[in-house]
Amino acid sequence: MGRTLAKISLVLLLIVALPMGFFLVREFSALTKNEQMVERVFSTQLESILYSINQYSENVVQQWSQSLDQAGDPKDELMQGMVENLFQNNAAIRAVRFLNLETSHEEAIYFNDSVFTMDVWPEEAEVEQLQTYLEANYQRMKESRWHDDLLLYFLPKSKKGEQLCQLVVEPRTFIQQNLSPMIQQVAQDLFYITISDSITGSVVYVNEAERGEVKTMKRAAMWYLPEHELGIRLKSKTLEELASERTQRDNYALLGMSLLVVLGFVFVLVNIRKEIKLAAIKSEFVSNVSHEIRTPLALISMYAETLLLKRVKTEEKQTEYLRTIQQESVRLTDIVNRILNFSRIEKNRIKYHFKKIDLKQAVPELIASFDSHFSAANVDCCFSSEVDEAWIEADGEALKTMLNNLLDNAIKYSDKAAKEIKVRVVKKNKQTWIEVQDNGIGISAKNQKYIFDQFYRVTEGDLAHQAKGSGLGLNLVKRIMKVHGGKVSVHSKLGEGSTFILKFPIKM
Ligand code: ADP
Repeated sequence: MGRTLAKISLVLLLIVALPMGFFLVREFSALTKNEQMVERVFSTQLESILYSINQYSENVVQQWSQSLDQAGDPKDELMQGMVENLFQNNAAIRAVRFLNLETSHEEAIYFNDSVFTMDVWPEEAEVEQLQTYLEANYQRMKESRWHDDLLLYFLPKSKKGEQLCQLVVEPRTFIQQNLSPMIQQVAQDLFYITISDSITGSVVYVNEAERGEVKTMKRAAMWYLPEHELGIRLKSKTLEELASERTQRDNYALLGMSLLVVLGFVFVLVNIRKEIKLAAIKSEFVSNVSHEIRTPLALISMYAETLLLKRVKTEEKQTEYLRTIQQESVRLTDIVNRILNFSRIEKNRIKYHFKKIDLKQAVPELIASFDSHFSAANVDCCFSSEVDEAWIEADGEALKTMLNNLLDNAIKYSDKAAKEIKVRVVKKNKQTWIEVQDNGIGISAKNQKYIFDQFYRVTEGDLAHQAKGSGLGLNLVKRIMKVHGGKVSVHSKLGEGSTFILKFPIKM
């Protein structure tokens, strides 16, 4: 059986477990790859959100530069009105200053709320760079830090590079008033967007008051705020959290699948093992039964032949031979009946005729029909009853079959010279019991678990091994007791004897 099972396991492993295992490993690795891809795509999206904020800040400062790019004198009324307008709409702009690059003079300076001293001049190299841009028809706004403020400067196109315009901007107000509405719009309810000082790391702006620390997923330098950087993260979870959550979920699903495959594998193997065992038991049953049938057949044929050849001289001998033939035929009939009975019961083809039976009367009668067996095997069988009457509802034939089986076993599985069988009728636990006790070889605790299974025979011990049988008797008893609403049990000790108990429900 071991080899067959090993072969089947190997085939199963090859056709089911290996492809499945291969599939699962591939799925696991594909998962990680997908994960990385999702992370990449997501990361690009976050970057483009930050880019759009920077782009917006560029639009704002471009608008400022355009409104200040006027042909006339920076002190004239038109410019005054423009600057006034700019101050009104942009509280972040603290001052606007025009410098003449030819004369190196300040042409005009406008203050928004408060007046302060402002005499910073741009580096020559930077001015030259801006002039080169302008020649290429590209007006570029430059930025630098001035104390706590932001300094933006550009060359107005209208002045052809001869004039420089400076704007002093208060960063916090710029963020709050100019950038915040746009940030709120892109962030919606999904993201936290932060602006932090890239030197100190302190957060100067968050689009929404949030709980706990903001762990940024992506950062980007701000185009027009030197030493500031933008940060973004998902409101609910970080990208890693999301990714690991998803991986975990998928892993569980794959793990569940693997477990199912393993369980299926084990289930199939266990069932195959059972089938192989049953096949072996059945073949043993056939050989047991053949063995059991062979002896009476041989005896019948031998005695019949002797009689036919008229070799038996005395009439007594003739009668003895005939009786043996008759007894062996009865034995044969018994064996065949048992097998037929078993097959009928197994297929539920037997019709039971239930009637009220008083065990105190019926059991001794059934035992009496076994007298010849008892005397042939030197058995002392005694019956006792604890009760005056013990009524049950049962089928008479079935009761006889059960008792025959138990008594037959009690004789068969005893090696004592003086065999003793005690049959008792008792009432216990609201049941009526028939106990059949012998002083035979007994049954080990391990075997007691299996003796009621069909075809099961104990093979340890000389007597158990040699005694003829089919392994059907006790299974038959179990099935019949079930139909009667009761059950059969056994108490036994190896070497001391066994007691089989038929437990019937009480019927008044
Ligand atoms: P069998 O045809 O082998 O007797 P049974 O189903 O009647 O089949 O019994 C199953 C096994 O239980 C037997 O092979 C035997 O080993 C064991 N057995 C049954 N009755 C007894 C008993 N009274 N004493 C010891 N062993 C018994």
